Amino acid sequence: MKKFNIAIDGPSGVGKSTISDHLAQTLNMRHLDTGAMYRCVAYYLKQENTDIKNEVELEKALNQIHIRFDEDKVYLNDQDVSNEIRTNDISMYASKTSALPAVRKKLVDLQQEIAKDKGFIVDGRDICTVVLPDAEVKIYLDASAKARADRRYKEYTSKGIEMDYQKVYDDIVQRDYQDSHREISPLKKAKDAVVIDTSDLDIDQVLQRALEIVKENI
Ligand code: C5P
Repeated sequence: MKKFNIAIDGPSGVGKSTISDHLAQTLNMRHLDTGAMYRCVAYYLKQENTDIKNEVELEKALNQIHIRFDEDKVYLNDQDVSNEIRTNDISMYASKTSALPAVRKKLVDLQQEIAKDKGFIVDGRDICTVVLPDAEVKIYLDASAKARADRRYKEYTSKGIEMDYQKVYDDIVQRDYQDSHREISPLKKAKDAVVIDTSDLDIDQVLQRALEIVKENI
């Protein structure tokens, strides 16, 4: 079969990464987690105390950032930051710094370069609309804020991380707002993306539906 790309967009905590990983295994494709890239940038800018309002300083910092994926790990300048980028703090800072034009330009260029040879499942916020508008398969995963907060809260609890439920819920709502109201590449469903509402579905059900959509389009 000819190689193809699958683009998946959707809000925070909807399960894009989990579904992309499962799809990648089932279809023998590779998963490019663009959220992890924005998180790496946020982590670096925070660590270096970069003044993100200063364009020259920001550009300089961005030029120092090298992101590499290896198996299920992500490396920032050769340091494994897979766990460090998953904190709530970095989630919120990634949502803020991802609105900066220089950050988006750097990462979109990189994502397009990586996915150009096809065979990728790319998940994020602007993949169907901006990064891969010609992807052969386009999916928009959606779920209510409550369903997503419930899942996030369970995830934290299972890892032994203590979190206030209301804070988890409020952060999801705030990230939704920031991600869908920014000027460049806001989160929105592409006209030709197929929606899966995962609020009342388990992982297997979402995976089955996604596989049907792939079949219908390839
Ligand atoms: O998907 P994840 O929660 O890891 O993404 C972290 C943040 O990175 C999001 O809140 C969003 O602001 C940003 N992001 C983005 N465009 C993408 C992927 C992620 O703006 N394609």
